[in-house]
Amino acid sequence: TPGALLGPAEIRELAGRLGVRPTKTLGQNFVHDGGTVRKIVRAAGVEPGQRVVEIGPGLGSLTLGLLEAGCSVVAVEIDPVLAGEITETVRRHAPQADFEVVLSDALDVTELPGEPPTALVANLPYNVAVPVLLTFLERFDSLATVLVMVQAEVADRLAAEPGSRTYGIPSVKAAWYADTRRSLNVSRNVFWPVPNVDSALVALERRDPPPTTATRREVFTVVDTAFAQRRKTLRAALSGLFGSGVVAEEALRAAGVDPSLRGERLGVADFARIAEQLHRAPG
Ligand code: SAM
Repeated sequence: TPGALLGPAEIRELAGRLGVRPTKTLGQNFVHDGGTVRKIVRAAGVEPGQRVVEIGPGLGSLTLGLLEAGCSVVAVEIDPVLAGEITETVRRHAPQADFEVVLSDALDVTELPGEPPTALVANLPYNVAVPVLLTFLERFDSLATVLVMVQAEVADRLAAEPGSRTYGIPSVKAAWYADTRRSLNVSRNVFWPVPNVDSALVALERRDPPPTTATRREVFTVVDTAFAQRRKTLRAALSGLFGSGVVAEEALRAAGVDPSLRGERLGVADFARIAEQLHRAPG
């Protein structure tokens, strides 16, 4: 009888039988180490009975870990071969489990079947890790916690503090939704095929965005614009958005931000105050 989790032999057997040839474009690297899966599930802090959404279940490594912890799982998978097999894998390993799969690009998912999930737990496809994470935080208010495995460098960026070398657009946008913390490193050797980079876990805990009269979109526009020209002062970087350097400078001063700083010094609340000034800008 199969064990609770997938090991190297079964990963290879499943992939061979399905004719899966993992593609880089879809970030297909499958975890074949039960110890790693259990670490991820523990780091996620999920509880029995909790409704969890997983992005990219692949062959089911993490899915089975979540089900072993007693979670109810809805998984979104873009690859029809993998999406077609996972229900069978779950039935074999965890026949009593509460599980369903949605065949879709995660970026296109606007609603999920069943109870709203309160946690997102995933080993994200690397190419779309940040957009998928931000999209799910934006679309699914019910998500209170997130635990994702991403490439280590992306983990650094997501959890970076203002002023640090890796601080940038993903850091500010993640901070709009949540408190973000970089957690364990994960060796590339737990994957098949072995990727070129190591991974790390990132834990997010949702909290309210900073109080502001600006919309989320306006704030993100200011963030994108400020970081599009990283080396420029805010006054110069935002001059186009505000119509001129003079107006940008006024707006920054009104927001209590020194116009000679670069965007990498500002926290999300600063960007929100700058975005409020967009309404007042002429035109
Ligand atoms: N969860 C599995 C594991 O830990 O072994 C697989 C993780 S693998 C890094 C990423 C998975 O995401 C693959 O199964 C891939 O097919 C799927 N995927 C890639 N892009 C996707 C997208 N845009 N939407 C949903 N799933 C996607």
